[in-house]
Amino acid sequence: MGSDGGPGSAARAEGRHRGHAAVNTAAATAMLYLIAAEPTLLAAAPEDVSRPALAHRARDGGHPCLGCGRPATAAIIVNSSAAGPRWLDLCSDCWHVVQQANETLH
Ligand SMILES: [Zn+2]
Repeated sequence: MGSDGGPGSAARAEGRHRGHAAVNTAAATAMLYLIAAEPTLLAAAPEDVSRPALAHRARDGGHPCLGCGRPATAAIIVNSSAAGPRWLDLCSDCWHVVQQANETLH
């Protein structure tokens, strides 16, 4: 039985095909340190932000992801002791990386 040159085994579907580069953990960690040092890089957020307000900002679409520059899909409040609450806008990929980086900081 000779193989007639099929395309080989079913094309390996890489589960996570990334069309863009999210930040890696090291970059996310550096970003968190930068934010801690320079919280004024982020836009000031209101003191009492409700969950709907977070979702609304994320859905707004007008905010670039701080990690990779794509439209942000998540909004996080960073409470800076020096500068008060600040918006941190992230796309979903970067959000996950930042969560991981944040955990490794503790
Ligand atoms: Zn991103």
